[in-house]
Amino acid sequence: MKLQAKVRDFFLDVFFPKICGHCGNSFRDGLSNVLCQSCFNQIEPYQSPSCGHCGVSLPPRAFEGVVQPRCEDCGDWPYYLDQTWSLGSYEGPLRLAHHAFKFDGMEHLKSAVAQKMLRHLPENFESGFEAIIPVPMSPEKERERGYNPAFLLGTEFSTALGIPVKPVLRKVRSTVAQRLLARDKRLQNQKGAFQVVAKEPILKALLIDDVFTTGATLEECAKVLKKAEAQWVGAVVWGRTPLYGSDRTEV
Ligand SMILES: [Zn+2]
Ligand SMILES: [Zn+2]
Repeated sequence: MKLQAKVRDFFLDVFFPKICGHCGNSFRDGLSNVLCQSCFNQIEPYQSPSCGHCGVSLPPRAFEGVVQPRCEDCGDWPYYLDQTWSLGSYEGPLRLAHHAFKFDGMEHLKSAVAQKMLRHLPENFESGFEAIIPVPMSPEKERERGYNPAFLLGTEFSTALGIPVKPVLRKVRSTVAQRLLARDKRLQNQKGAFQVVAKEPILKALLIDDVFTTGATLEECAKVLKKAEAQWVGAVVWGRTPLYGSDRTEV
């Protein structure tokens, strides 16, 4: 770093210190302007056993012998999505890191976020995927943001796992941001929003997205992939929102 830049950074640190949004301490080295490195390091991954559909941690020993346990939210409903693995609960530092990555234009966080996910993938994580498929954004949204966080995570996973990224899903209908909708409206909001543009069917696919809320987006993606002959569709996500409880509404 040039001397001039060093001097500038020194004065910026002194007069405009960054304050960690989680611990409240000022910091110099962090992954973003809102989260210090120490809080990022303390992001807690979910422990096993976890829900086979959304990835949330389940109480230990409560599901002994159950092959694919489900949490209260996911219940025994049939799903197109076969399995999801989530790093952890979408709150605290995990949520702050995601906000910086997705909403504050900090695309350089892709590597730290993906590496953390990769480090905590369970030992029994599925293998044999033909493709990593990022959940697409609408072209207008992607132009506006300049990047698709799911695609960036997908490329990092691809390098680490040696599985090609195949962006075979297109968002063909604009949807309202899921976070702005009531839970029972979210599944409806995603219907018909995606299309598969692959020439050959992808039999075993791994979707990648940033957050699992109701799972409506991933479910719709899995549905169109299965209609295009996929046999098994799983997903990995950075975070899973805390459980809503068992108020699921059938759509
Ligand atoms: Zn902190
Ligand atoms: Zn679940």
